[in-house]
Amino acid sequence: MVNNDFAVRCRGVVKRFGDVAAVNGFDLEVTTGQVLALLGPSGCGKTTALRVIAGLDVSDEGSIEVGGRLVAGPGVNLPPEKRRVGMVFQDFALFPHLDVAANVAFGLPRGDKKTRVAELLSLVRLDGLADRMPHELSGGQQQRVALARALAAEPDLILMDEPFSNLDPGIREEVRGEVRQLLRAVGITAIIVTHDQEEALSLAGEVAVMIDGRVLQTGTPAEVYGRPVSRLVGEFVGAANVLPGDSDGAQVECVLGRFKAMEQRGPVDVMFRAEALAISEDGGIPGEVVDVDYYGHDQMVAVKLHSGETLRVRLLARPGFEIGQRVGVTARGEPFVFPRS
Ligand code: ATP
Repeated sequence: MVNNDFAVRCRGVVKRFGDVAAVNGFDLEVTTGQVLALLGPSGCGKTTALRVIAGLDVSDEGSIEVGGRLVAGPGVNLPPEKRRVGMVFQDFALFPHLDVAANVAFGLPRGDKKTRVAELLSLVRLDGLADRMPHELSGGQQQRVALARALAAEPDLILMDEPFSNLDPGIREEVRGEVRQLLRAVGITAIIVTHDQEEALSLAGEVAVMIDGRVLQTGTPAEVYGRPVSRLVGEFVGAANVLPGDSDGAQVECVLGRFKAMEQRGPVDVMFRAEALAISEDGGIPGEVVDVDYYGHDQMVAVKLHSGETLRVRLLARPGFEIGQRVGVTARGEPFVFPRS
């Protein structure tokens, strides 16, 4: 059954390269109009997943629907140009010998291209730059040309592969904000691949966490960060401290004390986000500061407990801590509790 509520729906997709299953049981549904960040560590198969959705690689198993049409599945494999999917590559892949207008027009069907190019350039706020060559544009502007070219064919879905990684860190955040606004304004469904947690959480309405070829959790940024389904997801999506613990089904005991636990019984992993811990100069579980990463607005302080574990604690920038300082660590909130892995 195809379903029109989803701009894209992947079920059990597998893509192998020789013995390596780069994508391995990939399930993903993106509601029409949603911007989803596909977040995962390097090599987990994100690019391959995009390529099989776009039809640039042929999937070995599973099915893919785009805009309510089956584009890949048993006996079906539509070519990329029939899938109504637009792609923006990491390096933007503009034609260097064509000006901005010609680059955008490339994505258009025959007919009155001029008016449509002007509309598209206005949409991505590049009016007046139609005659520029790609090398005369900033990275952010080149990206908007690539986006305009991808939007030209009125796709059901836009795929963007690490679209901000080629931009200077100084402008990355600004361009990210612009792209987010633009995608929302157009109302297009988009999947944006990134390995950057902060980027994923700040950019998208939904985040899918991909590890080892499959999606382990999909949800809003707050859900994925605040209620990870597994230790693996929790550790990938934010700074996390994992301590061994024991649960009696109602409470869990670990080096930082006793906490409420779900029904889980027996040996467990007890996970505290770095900001769920606090440092005090009197009281708490004793330890010594072994490292300080100062970021200006906040700091990450590593404390080695006398019992041997090293914990990372995220704090406001003040008060400052010195390496070697004796401190105590306390928990500010309830931990996540997972079966011992
Ligand atoms: P990164 O963030 O580093 O780009 P990724 O999550 O996008 O990584 P992929 O590029 O999809 O990961 O690669 C997933 C796995 O598949 C890797 O082990 C990679 O080496 C392998 N792989 C990807 N493309 C090919 C190919 N054409 N031939 C052989 N192996 C490939």
